[in-house]
Amino acid sequence: MNLKDKLLSMGTNPAIAKVTKPIVQGIIDLASVELADIETIHARLKTCRKNECGNYQKKGNNEVCGVEQGGCGCFLSEKTRLKNETCPKKIW
Ligand code: SF4
Repeated sequence: MNLKDKLLSMGTNPAIAKVTKPIVQGIIDLASVELADIETIHARLKTCRKNECGNYQKKGNNEVCGVEQGGCGCFLSEKTRLKNETCPKKIW
């Protein structure tokens, strides 16, 4: 049994496990997130800022992939840092 399965199987009370399982799963998912390298992050942000997709928006100090034209609604400073993230318009 790997660590993930061990953590998910913790707790014998089904009522408690029902509440704790999503929390444990979230922590595991967060801990296993891989970050993109800095060149990739810059290239992605540069692409987003060109706004060829029509989704790029500035909201205050945040850059967002707007949902109105089929974007994901993500904050781009976070989205572009995650290695396995993809552009909803398949531009990057
Ligand atoms: S992630 Fe894709 S769709 Fe969203 S703003 Fe960037 S280029 Fe546009």
